[in-house]
Amino acid sequence: MRCEGGNREMVATVVDRLAEILPEDRISVDPRTRQSNSEDYAWFSNVLEEDLGGCRADVVVWPTTAEELADVLAVAHGTRTPVTARGGGTGNYGQCVPVRGGMVVNLTKMNRVLELGEGLARVEAGVKFADLDRAANSTGQEIRIYPSTYLTATLCGFVAGGSGGIGSVAHGVIADGNVLAATVYPVLDAPKPRHLTGAELGSIIHAYGTTGVLVDVTVPLARRTEWEQAVFSFPDIVACHGFALDLIEDRSVPKRLLTGVEPGVTRYFGRARLPFPAERTSAILMYGLGCRERVERLAGRQGGRLEFALPQDSRTRLSDFTWNHTTLWAKKADDSLTYLQTGWSVDRFGEQVHAIQAEYGDDFAMHCEYFRADGSAFTAALPIIRYKGREHLDRMVEFVESVGVGVANPHRYVLEEGSKVENVEELLRAKRENDPAGLLNPGKFQAAFAAGEQSGHTFKPASMTLARQRVL
Ligand code: FAD
Repeated sequence: MRCEGGNREMVATVVDRLAEILPEDRISVDPRTRQSNSEDYAWFSNVLEEDLGGCRADVVVWPTTAEELADVLAVAHGTRTPVTARGGGTGNYGQCVPVRGGMVVNLTKMNRVLELGEGLARVEAGVKFADLDRAANSTGQEIRIYPSTYLTATLCGFVAGGSGGIGSVAHGVIADGNVLAATVYPVLDAPKPRHLTGAELGSIIHAYGTTGVLVDVTVPLARRTEWEQAVFSFPDIVACHGFALDLIEDRSVPKRLLTGVEPGVTRYFGRARLPFPAERTSAILMYGLGCRERVERLAGRQGGRLEFALPQDSRTRLSDFTWNHTTLWAKKADDSLTYLQTGWSVDRFGEQVHAIQAEYGDDFAMHCEYFRADGSAFTAALPIIRYKGREHLDRMVEFVESVGVGVANPHRYVLEEGSKVENVEELLRAKRENDPAGLLNPGKFQAAFAAGEQSGHTFKPASMTLARQRVL
């Protein structure tokens, strides 16, 4: 894609205005800095890598307080400059790639834990999960859910761009009560903070920062638990699935992570030098310390056995082999591999896997994540697939959907093309209120574009691939 950016004169004006409110070392027009602040992990997709390559911000800024952020957004509004919020930059679909250039607002210097109470924490936008968890641990608590990018992802980046992760097996995905409150700033001449709670939070969750810039969020905390990290093995993914459903239903075992991966995926974990079995499907688990016997009994019913458990003082995180870290391992081993994001019918799982693997064989290796929401179990999968061109990929998506598996297509950067957005009207309302000039992460929210978002960019007719089920 040829990315649209501002002309030189315009950029100079914007930089001059920014220099009135921020010190020199927190404004950058250096090409390398602009490049590194304009990329995320879209390269997991061969398609997005091609579609988004070359997109670059004109200027990067680092506010350190809410007041500075408000001033930056006022400059953006006054000069009609596109503005894209950036946290850790670990998103997978080019969410924070500034496809129309303009300003990238890097929020990682807004990184204070503002409040740590009984059962909740309020943090600034750029706080990283590992930092909040460490602070929570010191009060006998822990974060409830986090992406496998624990060390690098920010809380607000997760709320605006993520879905679920470690802990979701017990606490559901982000929208399942895992954000209690948030403060957003609009892009206006004099932005004032807006405090959101309850149902209002739907207007910013997974909206790719197109409906407001988050300055802080309040998240629930859980009582700290001692977890055991272990790998069990099973004859195949269907036996592993049976075990996973039994374990989810067993309320006597506290759980934090429940992942199933076929040998076609674990083969790429080689460099980690952990004894993953070569021929059997692995279940990667975090369960309450002291529950091993119970888990072994449940596994035994499906032909499962313990392969290894990490010592309590191990610094290895088995979560580094789960969620989208599996794609990272595969991609690093072989660039022709990529992935899909899919939602499965819990009951028809075996039949669906067999149908897809009969068609695609080794080019579709299963990786399942289990989570629980509203009392029900969900099976999401991020299978590792071989990329053989756009048409082949589109046909594979069609085939997978034809057997009743929902796809949230990770090879699309437009919000509604990536997954089913059920609250378009709510997002549009927030967009109109918080971003009337259409400057926030433009090009990502197609409905806003259709409703008159400012731009000369024309979208191709949408080839929507909507997930039918709740997926990542
Ligand atoms: P960024 O990538 O910086 O931003 C994500 C989106 O949020 C962008 O649209 C950006 O504009 C917007 N945004 C950022 N900050 C703000 C703000 N303050 N206000 C408004 N909008 C904002 N995701 C999961 O859900 N679960 C996983 O387990 C998971 N595992 C991953 C594993 C790997 C190896 C990788 C590369 C990615 C994974 N992801 C996962 C995706 C990503 O890591 C998470 O969604 C992460 O939480 C994003 O946080 P971030 O700070 O990096 O956000």
